[in-house]
Amino acid sequence: MTMAPHTIPLSWTRERIKKDQIDRYLENGQDFIQDSEIWKKIHEVGEPNLGQVREILEKSLAIQVLTPEDLAVLIRVKDPEALQEMQEAALKIKEKVYDNRIVTFAPLYMGNYCVNNCAYCGFRHENLKAKRRVLSMDEIRKETEILTGKIGHKRIIAVYGEHPVTGIDYILQSMKTIYEVKMPTKHGYGNIRRINVNAAPMSIEELVRLRDGGLGTYQVFQETYHHETYAKLHPKGTLKSDYRWRLYAMHRAMEAGIDDVGIGVLFGLYDWRFEVMALLYHAIHLEAKMGIGPHTVSFPRMEPALNSEYAEHSPHKVSDEDFRKIILLIRLAIPYTGMIITARETAQMRRDAIGLGITQTDASTKIGIGSYSEEGTGQETERQQFMLGDTRSLDELVNDFAEMGHITSFCTAGYRCGRTGKCIMDLLRSGQEGKFCKLNAVLTFQEWLDDFAAPATREVGLRVLEKELEEIRIRNPQGFPVFYQFLERVRKGERDLFL
Ligand code: SAM
Ligand code: SF4
Repeated sequence: MTMAPHTIPLSWTRERIKKDQIDRYLENGQDFIQDSEIWKKIHEVGEPNLGQVREILEKSLAIQVLTPEDLAVLIRVKDPEALQEMQEAALKIKEKVYDNRIVTFAPLYMGNYCVNNCAYCGFRHENLKAKRRVLSMDEIRKETEILTGKIGHKRIIAVYGEHPVTGIDYILQSMKTIYEVKMPTKHGYGNIRRINVNAAPMSIEELVRLRDGGLGTYQVFQETYHHETYAKLHPKGTLKSDYRWRLYAMHRAMEAGIDDVGIGVLFGLYDWRFEVMALLYHAIHLEAKMGIGPHTVSFPRMEPALNSEYAEHSPHKVSDEDFRKIILLIRLAIPYTGMIITARETAQMRRDAIGLGITQTDASTKIGIGSYSEEGTGQETERQQFMLGDTRSLDELVNDFAEMGHITSFCTAGYRCGRTGKCIMDLLRSGQEGKFCKLNAVLTFQEWLDDFAAPATREVGLRVLEKELEEIRIRNPQGFPVFYQFLERVRKGERDLFL
């Protein structure tokens, strides 16, 4: 489906932002990101000593959210011994909360029409070099057939530009189309069981509809929390220029009954120290005001994008060393949260990130519109938002993770059996979620190995699976037989079983 990219009905843009759905959350007319206060906290910190760092790490290890003052101390740490201890603590926290599971998903880009003009994005309205397109329902079906029937994904993140052609009705219709696809596999069938959505901020009324459409997690990244930089990169007059409409997107989502929300920063737009602090403020504020913190935190790093000077030459580009530190700091500051690293990063960086506490990543990634089902030349700049750093297949990733002793989880049980939001947060904090999910991870891993794995991957995967089974047997000898019956049913070809 194509449409002239510059056709934007004014009535549509004029009515999108509901001022009362921003103002109700403000305190004394202020939002919760006070730029000068954040900088003051960063600058006030003296040289940290090891004792002070260890005290803070104790809190993280007890799965307590750090204070901004604590985080400012950790940001300042340069001493290799202290950094080493921080890294060890991060890994312990990840294992305590999420065990050795890595959840995988695939992004599915629905269209690249966009009314906004974000300086760093290839989809921006004024980028005349972008080939515009939005997938029809038939095309979405074809994309899903490849993802579920050939690759074996069970969860996707559906990505939408902000435009009337991909408004809420289209989003809901596309979700329905995806959920309906069921593909035969070697021993059973494949389908998408969780759709997370990354789309522009919406009103509470639209968010209620999104929730009812079978949403998993709702993701909106603030991009930069720094007010002045935000204003510079999101030109006045565009919808996205409204900082507070975006900042309170997740407050509205929670008011609409969406418990799982994903926040994030596009690293490279402004000073990373400020952004990490602001992410923490966001998490603290959501929990204090709405009762639940973020289900996930994403930290995309800016990549080159078609016809974007800013993406190429930003003064705030983040080095690999700083990026690793950012991951570490988020894991320590918001210990309960899921953390997502994407194929924007190289294979090596993704491996490193796993050792720093990452819990989710994508695989077999294609971000061109229609590029899973259509022959292409690999990465195509005119139809994708930015360039990828790691285009390895899901099979290669599963193999790599298994070699590192990690189990790839395709579990999507959480939101379907009520373990979301506040409930899942309590489970995560108490370390219970890791145990529940271990069982479902094993069931879904077996399913994927039987249906999709190449022989070498199956071999190394089954070795990890055996180890997991042994752990489950030792930890829960009474429950093991029941669980084992489920596993046997999966081995015989039953699909989508969960506990
Ligand atoms: N249009 C919606 C929005 O902006 O919220 C959602 C879709 S947008 C395609 C998803 C995310 O891509 C953005 O939130 C931004 O963080 C990220 N992104 C944009 N340009 C990028 C670039 N050059 N490199 C890496 N990530 C980028
Ligand atoms: Fe549009 Fe999102 Fe890209 Fe901005 S980041 S131009 S809103 S697609």
